[in-house]
Amino acid sequence: MKITLDQAKCTGLGICESLSPDVFEVDDDGTLVVKRPDVDAGLLAEVRAAVDSCPTEALRLTS
Ligand code: SF4
Repeated sequence: MKITLDQAKCTGLGICESLSPDVFEVDDDGTLVVKRPDVDAGLLAEVRAAVDSCPTEALRLTS
């Protein structure tokens, strides 16, 4: 599975980072960085939770 980010929709508040800090990081200027866009199987559950919790639907998981 792969994570795609629509940067225009992201508000940078970091809910995704709080749920999956190994994968998502909001940098100092408020821009979200997807550190590991190819999702490891062991991180899939938390990444799915992060994607589902994004309030602006900026994240997607694709196969
Ligand atoms: S939860 Fe959504 S809006 Fe918030 S930082 Fe993550 S991708 Fe951006």
